[in-house]
Amino acid sequence: FPSDKIRNFSIIAHIDHGKSTLADRLMELTGTIKKGHGQPQYLDKLQVERERGITVKAQTATMFYENKVKDQEASGFLLNLIDTPGHVDFSYEVSRSLSACQGALLVVDAAQGVQAQTVANFYLAFEANLTIVPVINKIDQPTADPDRVKAQLKSMFDLDTDEVLLVSAKTGLGLEHVLPAVIERIPPPPGISDSPLRMLLFDSFFNEYKGVVCYVSVVDGMLRKGDKVSFAATGQSYEVLDVGIMHPELTSTGMLLTGQVGYIVTGMRTTKEARIGDTIYRTKTTVEPLPGFKPVRHMVFSGVYPADGSDFEALTHAIEKLTCNDASVSVAKETSAALGMGFRCGFLGLLHMDVFHQRLEQEYGTQVISTIPTVPYTFEYSDGSKLQVQNPAALPSNPKYRVTASWEPTVIATIILPSEYVGALDILLNGQAVDALATIVHNQKAYRVGKELVEKLKNFIERQMFEVMIQAAIGSKIIARDTISAMRKNVLAKCYGGDITRKKKLLEKQKEGKKRMKRVGSVDIPHEAFQQILKVS
Ligand code: GDP
Ligand code: MG
Repeated sequence: FPSDKIRNFSIIAHIDHGKSTLADRLMELTGTIKKGHGQPQYLDKLQVERERGITVKAQTATMFYENKVKDQEASGFLLNLIDTPGHVDFSYEVSRSLSACQGALLVVDAAQGVQAQTVANFYLAFEANLTIVPVINKIDQPTADPDRVKAQLKSMFDLDTDEVLLVSAKTGLGLEHVLPAVIERIPPPPGISDSPLRMLLFDSFFNEYKGVVCYVSVVDGMLRKGDKVSFAATGQSYEVLDVGIMHPELTSTGMLLTGQVGYIVTGMRTTKEARIGDTIYRTKTTVEPLPGFKPVRHMVFSGVYPADGSDFEALTHAIEKLTCNDASVSVAKETSAALGMGFRCGFLGLLHMDVFHQRLEQEYGTQVISTIPTVPYTFEYSDGSKLQVQNPAALPSNPKYRVTASWEPTVIATIILPSEYVGALDILLNGQAVDALATIVHNQKAYRVGKELVEKLKNFIERQMFEVMIQAAIGSKIIARDTISAMRKNVLAKCYGGDITRKKKLLEKQKEGKKRMKRVGSVDIPHEAFQQILKVS
């Protein structure tokens, strides 16, 4: 397969929007799995995935597909599909998968519309420069509203509504358009076939018979069974004992070409030798290492101890093998007075932690006791020293110095929600909204905050030649108001005594002038006043 006949794509979506079911249908359509055989969500192979009905591991499947374009001869394509998890705790799986792809099917439930992980995963794919093919799924549901979802995709992601595919992964409706769209819209992998071999190690797992199996994406060059390869990060070299594709089970092919996604077995002795994100190249050549992955940020830590103290050895082996398949867990040895020897593990979230424990039990038969999860804290002492704590036991109970400050992790979050749920508070000066003063507050606090802001503004804004009306509003509803009266210029100063009608005329004119200024004029708010207002509010 020349690389212009290869397409690598992920399926991304919010949890439960139908990624794994769509993957089933595409694999059936291409004869990769038999229709009606096997279980639904075929790629959810782990027991924990089947029990919970969620995907926690990204899974790759290679498919062969004959694409027939009208009036043209059918031509064969090799498609690599990666099904990904939807839950936020497993987004590391998604970002790694995307690095082996040029495009992504962004699946959205026709009834639920765009959800939190739709947005997060869209941006992962967008930042990775992938071509996004929007797919609205579950159009068979009675509550499906594809037009509303199309409008959301347009307004939130600027996706062309004409390019949105409408499907039901359940009934098969519209599915015939998916793979042709993948072929037409997603570019082939950009690698250079006659360059020296460069592969990205994007995932791995431990197999009892084969040892460590590495999932690789061939960026440049080609690879054959028997070749000698080196790993950039570890500096280790190996002979390639087996090489092949996931079809969807491991299938030896003897070689992998530029742009392909597949697996290699090298007879590594320990799982630590497979560092996810590493660059693999032909031994004795020099290549520029691939960018790899951003290091993961662990959100929660907990202790993992063998339920039976003597099983420490078994737990060590189990953790070693499992972390080979889940590189996002951090592991460090620790000892507890009560529980003996164990490990302190860092996870991406509580669900991730739960799933890790469950996999230790189900896949490796180790019973574990886990301690209460904690977030990492930083303490500062009166001598200026700082202490990072991931385990409550590590916090000295009688410290030499006083704790002067303590920090816990905070999140900078963007909340996207329909406008009816927002108590958006506008500040209007003479009827015009001042965007810099607008704020989002909880409905319950809106009245108090609005009143305070109006009062502060009244104190900070100088009197103008015209009356200034200050209002706080939620939508069109005014919830607080005040006015700063105008300075009255003495227009009569130049009239020495005399004509009362002339005076009246001038006063009329002044009134009109004021009106005009009120209508068109904008209020000057001094910069310092702005800062003061924003600071105190
Ligand atoms: P994932 O979390 O995105 O992988 O979602 P799954 O593929 O596991 O599907 C979640 C649920 O939605 C399952 O119960 C599927 O049977 C169901 N589902 C998937 N696609 C469709 C569809 O097109 N129509 C309907 N009605 N249900 C679907
Ligand atoms: Mg799934």
